[in-house]
Amino acid sequence: MKTVWDKFQEKDIKKVMDFSEGYKKFLDNAKTEREAVEQTIKLAKKAGFKEFSTVKSLKAGDKVYFNNRDKSIALFVIGKDELEDGMNILGAHIDSPRIDLKQNPIYEDTGLVLFDTHYYGGIKKYQWVARPLALHGVVCKKDGSKINVCIGEKESDPILEISDLLIHLSRDQLTKTGAKVVEGEDLNALAGSIPAKSKKEEKDLVKKNILNILKKDYNIEEDDFISAELELVPAGKARDLGLDRSLVMGYGHDDRICAYTSLMALLESNNPKRTSVCILTDKEEIGSMGSTGAQSAFFENCVAELLNLQDKNYNDLKLRHALERSFMLSSDVSAGYDPNYPQVNEAKNAAYLGKGISFNKFTGSGGKSGSSDAPAEFVAKIRKIMDKNKIMFQFSELGRVDQGGGGTIAYVLANHNMDVIDAGIAVQNMHAPYETASKGDIYEAYRAYKVFLKDA
Ligand code: MN
Ligand code: MN
Repeated sequence: MKTVWDKFQEKDIKKVMDFSEGYKKFLDNAKTEREAVEQTIKLAKKAGFKEFSTVKSLKAGDKVYFNNRDKSIALFVIGKDELEDGMNILGAHIDSPRIDLKQNPIYEDTGLVLFDTHYYGGIKKYQWVARPLALHGVVCKKDGSKINVCIGEKESDPILEISDLLIHLSRDQLTKTGAKVVEGEDLNALAGSIPAKSKKEEKDLVKKNILNILKKDYNIEEDDFISAELELVPAGKARDLGLDRSLVMGYGHDDRICAYTSLMALLESNNPKRTSVCILTDKEEIGSMGSTGAQSAFFENCVAELLNLQDKNYNDLKLRHALERSFMLSSDVSAGYDPNYPQVNEAKNAAYLGKGISFNKFTGSGGKSGSSDAPAEFVAKIRKIMDKNKIMFQFSELGRVDQGGGGTIAYVLANHNMDVIDAGIAVQNMHAPYETASKGDIYEAYRAYKVFLKDA
């Protein structure tokens, strides 16, 4: 099988490895959607981007971004063509499956304090037990202040854990189906065991002690959890995988792998013909709803703001033109063919690790249901751009027909009547605490995004 590694020369491999170092750093520093937005703004500012509200006028070559509630972001490099003639858009999501704390999470049971949780996105619950977890997120206080939390990433930090049942007492448990081996309401994270000192008989002293620590170290009261977004994610850093270091294993490839590569391509877009865009969105894993999901009016509003600033005669039709004349690569991870589980794939139409960026004409499940299905004419245009620029690509489906399926944000943007195709990077163990991807694909996807912004 020919892969990107056959194509790469010695000097290319050096670039591939260097690029993946930047990506691993991004993964380590962006384990939540909020952290991903923060990292994105840092990188964007370094590349000359300005927050839109600080800009008085716009000309070709200008670089601006819109921050939506610190949870999603849209970045633009203004093109030489009119915005009304359409944009070249890269889109990906920055939320990942994880375990969220409930709004009333803390309780004490037999001298142990636990945090009750509600998982986020599609997970195999049994994968999330008996492993070090870090707590990331924000706590919003009634006075308007916001406390950032990140516990468990430094070597010296404590971690949390959701326990698993010991094998010795698992006779009943192991007769259950995989979906029931560990159930959602049993995902409670162990958080402490020392009681507060007290002169009188008091109950829940261990919980009291934990609340004292939260108050002292973070100024967090028990009530404040109501207005908090706290996420348990696997603790630790992304690592090179393979004796040849050709792969990366880390938390949250889905979909920060496409977010980072799209972002890097956009940051390097200088004086494009058509306006270059990168949208990094939240809530994809739970249906893209809400103010920070892809279905929000946020992106449309950003384009309206840009049009309005550039054109005294702004009107609604110009906005509609700008959207429907756009082209988009909606990027999300593909199911990488796994030699351990060949039976779920159809080999001719599977995505393989190392075979370059993976396009999906459609996603969905059960007869392509729920997919936006890119028009063949647009697919031909994409093939042409990739071939012209010698990008290695593959076309795939998410598994065998009727084996399962999944969706992305592609249909949401396609609903503006623009041409959208699903693109992305093949990963193994998607939605597991640690996912695996090829460094070669990461680099080839980044190259593909660059030429799409230039040539589409
Ligand atoms: Mn995804
Ligand atoms: Mn996903």
